[in-house]
Amino acid sequence: MCSGRVDLEFVLRAFSNGMDGVIIGGCRLNECNYITHGNYHALNMVLLFRRIMEHIGLNPERLRIEFMSSAEGIRFAEVMSEFGSKVKELGPLGKGKGEGIDQNELKSKLAEIAKLVPYVKVVKNEKLASRLANPNEYDNLFTKDEIDKLFSEIISYYIDPEKCQACMTCAKRCPVEAIISTKNQVHVIDQDKCIKCGTCFEACPSRFGAVTKISGRPVPPPLPEEKRTIVRKSK
Ligand code: SF4
Ligand code: SF4
Repeated sequence: MCSGRVDLEFVLRAFSNGMDGVIIGGCRLNECNYITHGNYHALNMVLLFRRIMEHIGLNPERLRIEFMSSAEGIRFAEVMSEFGSKVKELGPLGKGKGEGIDQNELKSKLAEIAKLVPYVKVVKNEKLASRLANPNEYDNLFTKDEIDKLFSEIISYYIDPEKCQACMTCAKRCPVEAIISTKNQVHVIDQDKCIKCGTCFEACPSRFGAVTKISGRPVPPPLPEEKRTIVRKSK
């Protein structure tokens, strides 16, 4: 119903399913029927995703957003026809001019981005909620350097086996069940499942402080299963 509902994940899914271009239609800016002005959210999401496309080597012109009212049938037809021609000109996804990405590599890049969507949304939350009054501001809402930096400084979360007391708080709060949790055993984050939301970092009681943030270096390997049992000192 509202372009504000079009999530980054939907766009990613379309490209991951082999679409060569994606166009989002929204109501005219400042003509939203609701106080939410979801079309601004959609615009910001598109501006962000276009930078992500540049980051992974895709032509950002494959993604477009257009604002129009339901009474503008002719404009709609013109926009769709023009976008269709543009996508044809760009060619298949990943194989266009200046792209040259191997299909398997593209698939894994899109899968990697899909995993990071919640993280990106949390980190860029403020900008994603902004309202740009002037189209001249679109180019600078997100810059290429900013998005390159975002991905090069991705934060991972790691549970320090020396500090974990197996209180299970983090596992109960993790939204994607990424924490391997067994009673009286050091907890371990499954890095393949983790969406880097940071909830475990916030949830771990400060007296334990077992969850740490890691950036710019590899996450240490998980403690082998047979070494996870916590031997508690008797009172
Ligand atoms: S950061 Fe922590 S809470 Fe969030 S998904 Fe990863 S393991 Fe779960
Ligand atoms: S909340 Fe902290 S101490 Fe408790 S199980 Fe998780 S990492 Fe370990």
